[in-house]
Amino acid sequence: MSDTVKHVLDETRLPEAWYNLAADLPEPPPPVLHPGTGQPVGPDDLAPLFPMEIIKQEVATDRFITIPEEVRTVYRQWRPTPLYRARRLEKALETPARIYYKYEGVSPAGSHKPNTAVPQAFYSKQEGITRLTTETGAGQWGSALAFAGAVFGLEVEVYMVKVSYDQKPYRRGLIEAYGARVVASPSNETNSGRAILAEHPDSTGSLGMAISEAVEAAAAREDTKYSLGSVLNHVLMHQTVIGEEASAQMELAEDYPDVLIGCTGGGSNFSGLSFPFIGRALRDGSKIRAIAVEPAACPSLTKGLYAFDFGDTGHLTPLVKMHTLGSTFVPPPFHSGGLRYHGMAPLVSHLKELGLIEARAYTQTEVFAAGVEFARVEGILPAPEANHAVKAAMDEAIRCREKGESQAILFNLCGHGHFDMQAYIDYSAGKLVDHEYSEDEVAMALAGLPAVAV
Ligand SMILES: *Cc1c(COP(=O)(O)O)cnc(C)c1O
Repeated sequence: MSDTVKHVLDETRLPEAWYNLAADLPEPPPPVLHPGTGQPVGPDDLAPLFPMEIIKQEVATDRFITIPEEVRTVYRQWRPTPLYRARRLEKALETPARIYYKYEGVSPAGSHKPNTAVPQAFYSKQEGITRLTTETGAGQWGSALAFAGAVFGLEVEVYMVKVSYDQKPYRRGLIEAYGARVVASPSNETNSGRAILAEHPDSTGSLGMAISEAVEAAAAREDTKYSLGSVLNHVLMHQTVIGEEASAQMELAEDYPDVLIGCTGGGSNFSGLSFPFIGRALRDGSKIRAIAVEPAACPSLTKGLYAFDFGDTGHLTPLVKMHTLGSTFVPPPFHSGGLRYHGMAPLVSHLKELGLIEARAYTQTEVFAAGVEFARVEGILPAPEANHAVKAAMDEAIRCREKGESQAILFNLCGHGHFDMQAYIDYSAGKLVDHEYSEDEVAMALAGLPAVAV
């Protein structure tokens, strides 16, 4: 067996179905609640926002959901993605561990996000929708949906968190190159945006605010639906192509992971890699470790409360039970823009509560140090978000060295950092500062959690 399994999977091995963890959970996650009535939401409540096929997938309990051939055709452009064995990193760390990484940076937008953008755009098109709205933090999701919209001929409108709009003109440029319209959020185009600006004219924005604006803009028009790039069940499910491919690739490598690692903003790339493996462990009673890695400056899984909360700042979304820092919490503007969300995917939160996954947090200077060390041996410059996974994988490899354990570590290198060079320049110049999250601000945000009698 060759060391590199990167191109061994040919297109016939592209998964035919997404894996749905709901089929194998020991207990179902809490329901999603209507903010007005406190009762579980039904399809009719969600119909103004999402295509019906997406609503069905959100609550599906089938173990596998067939990937439409039209979606597989688009996936085929870059999938299966490579799985690498990080031999030079192993050597540099002098570890007996075997380190593998799945590389999602080969997609057109440079991250895992097109895995869900493409099916979401496809189902919208199929149901006669002509326009999609969405939010974006650092711009990765915006560029992924803009790409998918271009493929299926849909108009796309992207509310981009203002601090990224100003600091990341290249991602904005990519979104516009794909033909989508970008609006700096909070904006004057929506009631929720105007309300925030009235109170905080200098607001740098947040994902929570941008979601409110995108949801409001979608609900206002018949021809428009809203598209979310993380957090929701259907998004996590679309991302399982990553773990399904990785599972087949590990088999070709004649190995099996002991530890799975992914960074977590809303939880989708971590879930995409880990759910197929966690599902298998749940079915056959075996054990597997899965570690979700988040920034210390926005630590929803490690420091947040497990409670019903809104997905957005303007309180337009249903209530979901998740680890949250409070929907009005505005994370400091650190460099991993894709990880600046106040909440965590309900399914990831549920797994954490059940003790089926682990979570840890790192500061940004330590993850950039890991990312640069990785780039120097492996050649790929990770996205700042992915550096969190790199750091955890390196720490696990060092633990193996110290304990003399020969384990297999598999992490998700969920995107490249080519649009994040300013962050690397700042890191090299010693200009990155570590933000701790503000305990006072979180306490204030959590005091405003909605009262729910469940
Ligand atoms: C969006 C993004 C993330 C965070 O989102 P998840 O849903 O947690 O995966 C992480 N890394 C990259 C490269 C991203 O684009």
